[in-house]
Amino acid sequence: MKSWFIYVFGRWILLSGIAGALMQYLLSDMLKIHTIPAFLLNQFILANVFWFIDKAIFRGYFSIPHITLWQIEKNVKCADCGVIGEGYRVVKAKNYDRLNDPEPEFRCSTCRERKLEELRKRGIEV
Ligand SMILES: [Zn+2]
Repeated sequence: MKSWFIYVFGRWILLSGIAGALMQYLLSDMLKIHTIPAFLLNQFILANVFWFIDKAIFRGYFSIPHITLWQIEKNVKCADCGVIGEGYRVVKAKNYDRLNDPEPEFRCSTCRERKLEELRKRGIEV
């Protein structure tokens, strides 16, 4: 409700409404451009401006938190300690992509934590 209020009154009435009215006045009354072409020009100019404003507004709503994608396999050998069992590996993270790794390395749940620490030290967000 609060964001609705900000969007409707702040974004449309205040910004678009006033900016659009002023622009229409400038184009139509001052520059004597006919109403319809003036209106279209008005919208075109504002669209260019609000493209950046709306992008900033919606970035907050639609920014998807990055997801770390794991592959879990049964009966695989841990790449570190050699234990056979359930193995884990990070396939994809924000700045990490091993989707097409020809030799995937799996790790047991203990070694997984150590590997995660190592990845984090390398600046990978997992
Ligand atoms: Zn292990």
